Parts: sequence; structure tokens; C-alpha cells
Amino acid sequence: MRRLIAIALAGGVVWFVPQSAPRPNVLLVTIDTLRADRVGAWGYAGAHTPVLDRLAAGGARFADATAHAPLTYPAHTSILTGRYPAAIGVRLNGMDPLPPAVVTLAERFKAAGYRTGAVVASVILGRAAGLDQGFDDYDDDVPVDARATVALADLQRPATAVTDAALRWLGRQESAPWMLWVHYYDPHLPYAAPAKYRALAPNRPYDAEVAYVDAELGRLLAKVDLARTSLVVTADHGEALGDHGEPDHGFFIYDATLHVPLIVAGAGSQRRLVRDQVRSVDIAPTIAALAGLPAAQPADGESLVPLIEGKARAEAAPSLAESLYPHLHFGWAELRSVRVGEFKYIAAPEPELYDLRTDPSEKTNVIGARPGVAGRLSDALATIVKGFGPQSEAPRPQPDAATVQRLQALGYVGSLAPAPAGSGDDPKRHIADYVAYRERFNRALSLLGTGNAAEAAAVLKQLLRANVRSFEAHLYLGNAYAAMGNAEPALGEYDAASQLNPELATPHFEACKVLSGLARFPDSIARCRKGLALEPDSSYGLYTLGVVYTRAGQWKEAAAAFTRAVTLAPSEPRAHAGLAQASLRLDDLATAATHFAAMIDLKYQVPVAQFNFPAQWDPKLGIHVT
Ligand SMILES: [Zn+2]
Repeated sequence: MRRLIAIALAGGVVWFVPQSAPRPNVLLVTIDTLRADRVGAWGYAGAHTPVLDRLAAGGARFADATAHAPLTYPAHTSILTGRYPAAIGVRLNGMDPLPPAVVTLAERFKAAGYRTGAVVASVILGRAAGLDQGFDDYDDDVPVDARATVALADLQRPATAVTDAALRWLGRQESAPWMLWVHYYDPHLPYAAPAKYRALAPNRPYDAEVAYVDAELGRLLAKVDLARTSLVVTADHGEALGDHGEPDHGFFIYDATLHVPLIVAGAGSQRRLVRDQVRSVDIAPTIAALAGLPAAQPADGESLVPLIEGKARAEAAPSLAESLYPHLHFGWAELRSVRVGEFKYIAAPEPELYDLRTDPSEKTNVIGARPGVAGRLSDALATIVKGFGPQSEAPRPQPDAATVQRLQALGYVGSLAPAPAGSGDDPKRHIADYVAYRERFNRALSLLGTGNAAEAAAVLKQLLRANVRSFEAHLYLGNAYAAMGNAEPALGEYDAASQLNPELATPHFEACKVLSGLARFPDSIARCRKGLALEPDSSYGLYTLGVVYTRAGQWKEAAAAFTRAVTLAPSEPRAHAGLAQASLRLDDLATAATHFAAMIDLKYQVPVAQFNFPAQWDPKLGIHVT
């Protein structure tokens, strides 16, 4: 990117010399779960989205942008890498961390001399997922207060805290150009916007969350110079809001959860309405092109800059989508779709074809009337998927004898094997079962969160009788047993969860807590370390390990674990409390003072019990050992 600079020389001669233009800053904003047709600029009359609408009116608005998976982590992977989830073996939230060999947008910007930062609002995008690759600063400081009783996907920090963190990061940037990714999570369930926004959209809690994020985006952009910054705003996926019987997202691959807003504004963009179908995999190549970086290889998407400049695409680019959730959680069939131009084909035991030009809500399956189109798209889908090559399934670790025994005692042996690919009922025949499952699961979590562990356990056991493969149900049944003091069944449920999802660290951390409660400290520490091997930067895991060392009286090790935990999650007061206490024991009064001060700054009230650990009163220190 070069421009001509006029230099006035003595004698009045003016020379024009090429000069490198300053590279633009880059701001990528992803608004989780934002369905395109709930934004004013996309035609929604009930919207309170003035900031998005203004950006859409002044920049390039892509009327027809589509995501590749209806789940936060795989969908964000496409945005940040330009690759389809299937191409790099990414399937579900909490599974398959991003392979280190995959090059992220942040890695490319860092290599080009940019300062790179990210602020994410959900545990799902915590560093364990691997999307921190290439970021100088990756702020995933999500409070984990109720982690044992709240679904992982529901652990979040609100938009206000996200904007504050992003503004703090921007305030620290000096000369180098920067690239910042900001992730807002609020439109995701649970819908609980501040009262001011609930009043804007009475009885429409989802719209209220969208209004809240819109206002927070406005507060962020007030501090960003768009003349020097390329801005991309999009969503990872939409929200079904009851369409096709689906309450939220993650199950089906209809446009309710795949049609997302996409706006490119600021430096390098221009006012344009683009009606062609574009894709999440096009976002990374577009951002790279806006900053003058060469196109990456391999890539599944392509730069949208020509479309922004008004050039037409030679041919419609196909877009792939998939939902493996019904298969991996319930053993039903995988769903995959391909969209080219106006037609979308969904491969399922009963395949579907929709003409989105006349039927954007995908109500009428026209596969009987258009077998030729369906056949062509089916072939195109098979060709694309074949091009990804076989995605190697990591071999599952075999359980040891003690684990097998615990699983046998719970009646699980043999039933936890993964469902073979290409098998299972059509998920659309099971949407009612899925909805019932979700309702029961949420009821169980709510019972667990309100101290009714035995009732929660009964509901979760019922769920597992119908669907033994749900690793989440095993995990929370483990937590229910732990809360009831039933250590052995709790450990068995954690083993079952790990068996089903070997990449998940949480069952190990929860098992560590149970073993610590039994005063089996070496086993407990080993189990925590097993979790930390999977998720080395888990502030939750490090905090848990610190607590176990505290209970074992190993103060030096406790201080080391808490020190890493507070570095990773500075807003987590309990880690400060643990470190303050360990420092006192080690006669390191300066460190203790620093972290007592942090506790006061965070307005921390030391509770009687934390994180399911039995509390102990330490008369010498006058504080609770947790
Ligand atoms: Zn999401």
C-alpha cells in the first residue's frame, strides 16, 4: 500500500515520491449468537441497534453472510483462521483444541510487526481452545465463581467488562499498529441484559441483550479512530429462537443459526451493499488484504475487498456448514450442508433442499421437485469434504484398571464408545427429544446451583439413561455426587466424562477436588496436573491446585500455583486470597500485602466455603483456609 507524498523543495519544485502508507490498525468484533435478521440494518423493525445500523450504512454491509458451524468455538475458528472447521479437525466446544500448525490471523499480524490483543467473554474461547495463538495479550479473564454448578457455555463476562478491558488494552498501545479482537457474549443464553435494555425491548430478552451489546460497541468505538482502523463486525452464528423447533443454537444448520451480520467499515472500506453470499472463512483473508498482508495458504475463503470495491465475483463461492453436536452427544446422524447461490442442500438421512431466494426460512423442502440441483450440490459437498482429507481421530486413551472398576460399578462399561461416523437417526426426527434433554439438563444445573444436589443427581441419572454419551451430564452428575459427599460415584462420573471427551480438563480438576476432600493429596495433585497437562493455562486448574497444596501444607508449591492463577485471571479474588495466605506462611510479607490489597480492591468477602472445598477455620491467621 503506497501513496504519493508531495515534498516541496527549495525553488518551488514539487516532487511526488512513493511513500509507504501507515498500516491500518485492525479491530475485529465478534458478537456471539447475533442473528442477522435481529439487527435494524438487516430489516428488523424491533431492533435497538443504532451503532450497528450506522456502521452498516457508512461501510460495506454484507446482506448474506453465512457461518460454517452453529457453535461458538468451531465458528470462531473459521473467522480467525479462514479455514473450515472440518478442514482442520475442529468439531465441538470443549473438544479438539486448535492444532498448533494452523496459522491464525493473529500470528500473521504479529509476524508483520503488529501488536496483537484479544478480549474474550466466554470460557468456551478460553486459551485452552487454542485461539490465543499469535496474540501478545489474550484476556480470557472470565469469572469462574460457579463453575461447578453452571454449564461451561453459560460462564461469561458481561459486555461492560469486555469494553472496559478492550479500552484498557487500547490505552496501552503506542507506536506499532495494533490488531485487536473483541468478543461479546451477551446475546447467548441466559438472556439477562441490564434493566435499561430490558426496558427498551420489553418481553424480548434476546433483543435486549443485542441492544446492550450495541451500546457497548458504541462505547468502544468512541475511542477508535476509524480513519486509521479497519473494522470488521460479525457474529459467530445466530440463534434459532424457536425456528424449526430449536430453542437456541448448535443442533441444526438452518439459516436461523447460520445467517450472520457482517460489516466492514473504517480504513480501506467504503459504502457498499453486497448481496452475494459471503462466508465466515472470507473474513481472515479480507482483514489480511485490508492491512496489505499477502493471501494466506492454505485457505478456504477469499478476500472480500474486490466486492467492497464493487467488482463482481466470477462465480458464486460454495459455503459449507456442519453440525456434529447431534452425533457426538446423542449418536444421531451428522448434519452437513452446502450452499451455492440460492440453493442450500442439507445432507442427512432424509436430505433437504431449499431455495433461499423464495424461501429464506427454509420451510419447504424442494428436493422432490429439483433432484438435479440436489444431486449437483450433493456431489459438490462430497468433493469439498473429500478435499480435507481424512481427519485423524486421536486414539482414545484406554482406561486403567481402577477407572474400569469405577465405570463398571456405575454400569457404564461398553456403553461409552463413540458412535460410528455416518450412522444414526435423522436429528430432525429427534428435535423434541433434544429440547426435553436441554430442559432437564438446565433444571438439573439449577437444582445443583441452589444446593439440591440429590434432586439434581436424580434428573441427571434419568438423562443418562436416555443418552449415556453426554459428557456434560456425566460431569455435572459427578459434581452432584461430590456435593452430596459421595466420592466414589463422583470419581466414576468424572472418569466417564473424560472417557467421552479426553481433551476436557474440567473432569480432572473436579476429581482433584474430590480427592483433596478425601485428604488423598498426592492423588489429588496428580489429577490436577493431568488436567493442567490438557489445559496448562487454566486459572481454575491452577487455583484448584493451589488450594490442594494449601490443604497439604505445601506452601511454596501453593504460592507458585496461585501466582500463575492470579497472573492469568487478575480479577479472581480467591486466587489473590490463596496467594496472600501462602505468602504469609512463607514470611513473604510484601507479596502478602500486595494480594490482600488486591482482595480489598476486588471487594472480596471471604466466604465460608469456596469451590466445593470443605472450609477450615485457621485460628492463627483468622481467615478461612479453603
Ligand atoms: Zn457462539
